[in-house]
Amino acid sequence: MQDISTNIAAVESRIQAACDAAGRKRDEVTLVAVSKKKPVDLLRSAHEAGLTIFGENRVQEALVKIPELPNGISWHLIGHLQTNKVKQVIHCEFELIHSVDSERLLLALEKAAEEQGRTQPILLQVNVSGEASKFGLPPSELLPLLETASRCPHLEVEGLMTIPPFTEDPEKAAPHFARLRELRDEAAEASGFPLETLSMGMSHDLEIAIREGATFVRVGTDLFGAREKNT
Ligand SMILES: *Cc1c(COP(=O)(O)O)cnc(C)c1O
Repeated sequence: MQDISTNIAAVESRIQAACDAAGRKRDEVTLVAVSKKKPVDLLRSAHEAGLTIFGENRVQEALVKIPELPNGISWHLIGHLQTNKVKQVIHCEFELIHSVDSERLLLALEKAAEEQGRTQPILLQVNVSGEASKFGLPPSELLPLLETASRCPHLEVEGLMTIPPFTEDPEKAAPHFARLRELRDEAAEASGFPLETLSMGMSHDLEIAIREGATFVRVGTDLFGAREKNT
């Protein structure tokens, strides 16, 4: 693998070029460095090289890594979350949880946040493609979930997240990203939640996501190198 600084510079220039092409400002898009499965030494180097937001997909792994790294890092939880882990998750003080996808989980997070005297920022993960293997709520459940969220004073719903089906041609993800943006517009209008955040786009399709309105891109492989298979 190349030097981490080289990788960061390459991803950064892709984000900049995508913003330029879309007529968007660079500061409208935030890079989440997806550090799952990567060792703390590499994360430390990445932080020293300028990365400040790390995304983990497993609570147990995040619990081990967070205390080993400097305090200035923001941690995001991007992976599927089980209700039996919510207490630990709230305790971790994740800056943002991207993957809330059921009423049961929402209510469990609210309860844990209330007990721990915290307010937890979250995104709702939507399965826009309807692909069976993906987590995320069906679009039809978005408004009812926002209705429930409006009665959860310890949660702040900041927007939506999606993971499109993988395709070799990243352009094929475009309709899914566009659909998330449209859903956001409709849901913001109907619910009164501003839903400003759109978390979409990964290593191979971040340009398309930025073109379609992403405000967070979640990049792992192109920063840290390939992971073991099936992760
Ligand atoms: C692993 C992962 C990513 C990063 O994917 P890459 O293709 O390695 O950039 C982004 N989002 C989620 C939810 C992930 O689990």
